[in-house]
Amino acid sequence: MNINTDRTARLIEVFSAIQGEGLNVGTRQIFIRFAICDLRCSYCDSAHTWVASDECRVEMTPGLRDFAMHPNPVDTDTLLAWVERQNVPGLHDSISLTGGEPLLHAPFLKQFLPQVRLATGLPIYLETGGHRPAQLQTILPYLDSVGMDIKLPSVSGEEHWEEHAKFLQACVRSQVEVFIKIIVSQQTDTADLERAAQLVAAVSPEIPVFLQPVTPLDSESHPNKELILAPTPAQVLDWQAQMKRALKSVRAIPQTHKMLNQL
Ligand code: SF4
Repeated sequence: MNINTDRTARLIEVFSAIQGEGLNVGTRQIFIRFAICDLRCSYCDSAHTWVASDECRVEMTPGLRDFAMHPNPVDTDTLLAWVERQNVPGLHDSISLTGGEPLLHAPFLKQFLPQVRLATGLPIYLETGGHRPAQLQTILPYLDSVGMDIKLPSVSGEEHWEEHAKFLQACVRSQVEVFIKIIVSQQTDTADLERAAQLVAAVSPEIPVFLQPVTPLDSESHPNKELILAPTPAQVLDWQAQMKRALKSVRAIPQTHKMLNQL
């Protein structure tokens, strides 16, 4: 199955919603959710995106959840038409590329992003695991902002320190707006957080960091079948204080789109 051409990509869904995380929290975005992820974070709430689905769903009217099903893969012209249909004047603040891991579709994005910028005039926001600096480089000129994860091994089960550092350095060199998201749970090792703080501070202590308490998952319905526990209030207070010794902006915000019943 070819998932990575420069003219087609496999998608999960296209819809209009309120961003629930990070620097753009509360803003209205057109979400393009790409299929496939190469990581397996223990807390993942998007495990349905891990595989290359044969179909995607597309919202017909912004915010009405009147989805129609379409076969995958999708070409650039088709996706452009779907985004233009969502782009009601004045409604959206930006376009969110999310997943899965959008950078697994970098050749497609390199073709698509200049077209969608020209057609909509909307800023482009990339939400990523922050572990694929080579693919990032190919689309950086077409991005306005990047929300990258730093995966803590004690929480996610993933370890990508070197890639995260290269990724962040590439963002700062390009002058794209960048912020960091770190998922924390009761299992968080403070040594991981210290290492993350030092990694960010070594690039720039001004880069905003968001500590995101994990949204507890039902262990039976999750592929890893692990019990994921949210941190205690005392843990969050302690971790924020610890990170603020090295960084200027460390905010603790849970996933607000879950509270608002967004997708
Ligand atoms: S990077 Fe995101 S989509 Fe991929 S496994 Fe981790 S949380 Fe899930």
